[in-house]
Amino acid sequence: MATEERLLIIGGSDAGLSAAVRARELDPTINPLMVLADEYPNFSICGIPFYLSREVPDYWHLAHRTRAEIESSGIKVQTSTRALSIDATRKTCRLRTPSGVDEDVKFEKLIVATGAKSIIPTIDGIESPGVFFLRWMDEARTIDAYIEKHRVKSVLLIGAGYINLELADGLTRRRLDVTLIERNSTVLKTVDVELGRLVQRQLEDHGVTVFPGQRAKSISREGNRLTVTLENGKTISSELVVVATGARPQTALVESAGIALGEGHAIRINQRMETNIDDVYAAGDCAETFHRIIGRSSYLPLGSTSHKQGRIAGENAIGGTREFLGTVGTQVVKIFDLIAARTGLKDDDGRLFGFDPVTFEGEYWDHKVYYPGAKKLVIRLTGDRRTGRLLGVQMVGEPETLVAKRIDTAAAALFAHSSVDELNDLDLSYSPPLNSPWDPLQASAQAWQKQVGFAHTEVSIARENVAT
Ligand SMILES: Cc1cc2nc3c(=O)[nH]c(=O)nc-3n(C[C@H](O)[C@H](O)[C@H](O)COP(=O)(O)OP(=O)(O)OC[C@H]3O[C@@H](n4cnc5c(N)ncnc54)[C@H](O)[C@@H]3O)c2cc1C
Repeated sequence: MATEERLLIIGGSDAGLSAAVRARELDPTINPLMVLADEYPNFSICGIPFYLSREVPDYWHLAHRTRAEIESSGIKVQTSTRALSIDATRKTCRLRTPSGVDEDVKFEKLIVATGAKSIIPTIDGIESPGVFFLRWMDEARTIDAYIEKHRVKSVLLIGAGYINLELADGLTRRRLDVTLIERNSTVLKTVDVELGRLVQRQLEDHGVTVFPGQRAKSISREGNRLTVTLENGKTISSELVVVATGARPQTALVESAGIALGEGHAIRINQRMETNIDDVYAAGDCAETFHRIIGRSSYLPLGSTSHKQGRIAGENAIGGTREFLGTVGTQVVKIFDLIAARTGLKDDDGRLFGFDPVTFEGEYWDHKVYYPGAKKLVIRLTGDRRTGRLLGVQMVGEPETLVAKRIDTAAAALFAHSSVDELNDLDLSYSPPLNSPWDPLQASAQAWQKQVGFAHTEVSIARENVAT
């Protein structure tokens, strides 16, 4: 006999929990059932690098809420419970419970929030003991235990995206020798190579050995040591290898149920988080993301987006009509004493979507230079040559230069479909120890205009043609 649930949520992380909380907030008579495959409801996966660095002393500090807190708010939680299949016609979901017994749950509404999984690159010997992926709390705890048990002193990180950059910082703090290899010509491919090089220098200044433009071909293990052979024949030896080369949506569960996939093989959803099957919603890393600048779906798995999508799915699953207004692709990462951030499109993305992008790079003081402690940050601003529309901004600077705040200002402007010129109209705060009368973002907008030769009137005219 199947049990019956008004709202079943598969997944108990950022998207799943946000959905449950919102549904419950709007309808206190509903008790959503949230099932999750692991033992970590509402843990901050984003905090894993800071747990591995020991800046966060224990893994359980990463829980936003304890299980007891979640349950006391009216949400039912089943951990170590894997959803095996969905029957969309009968509106049932088969679950494997911790005891190994399978149970069917009948649902009125279903939200799928199963997240993403690590991409496994083709490297011989990748399954060797001592080689780990980093996505889940369990993996993080296993890596932590492995470092302790084997008194690991050296680590090789494969892939130089934000996860391994945070880990390079974190494990250096933990006094491990860190080597990083990346197949692209610079680290952090989410920013242009010019900024990637600054990030690489920061890593090297802190003792990380970086090999850009290198692919790992094979891994072999002898005793406690792992040897990674690169495609150019070079070998690197370490005691631990962590692979973080990207993520792909976890969709096996939904495919057999006839739930359609879209961009990046993620679950196809509309802006209300509805799938192609009635009463079935999806949110978070398993699902597509509406991209506000290009006006179509993309795949951009991020915690910030997962929370928003989950909240909307929760609201709509109980009768709401809220729409996700889209991402502009805002990201920030701290690498030792440097913050790197981006929002919007770079030249290559812009060209892909039919824009005529021009990027201009400049260096700007974070506050009035006569006041002590002024530091420079680097800004790359991208605009559309044809319309003057702002397309994207990338920044790198020390924490004091407030890169995270400034990228968010740019993100807000992008969200509003602003032109480069309209950045100059923003009323931003000024006091000499904190800023200049023109914020660096505005100074970079003016430099872009000078470079491209866009007069204010031309921009205003072009703006009438910008899609809103
Ligand atoms: C190390 C690291 C650092 C990160 N840092 C940042 C950051 O700084 N900023 C940022 O914006 N993003 C960051 N991210 C990305 C962010 O963590 C994810 O975008 C976010 O966690 C996605 O949330 P989600 O709920 O969609 O999926 P997940 O967090 O992946 O959770 C999926 C949930 O589904 C459950 N599940 C999966 N399959 C089943 C099944 N068949 N049955 C039952 N349950 C199932 C899992 O147990 C889990 O509860 C980081 C990711 C990592 C790995």
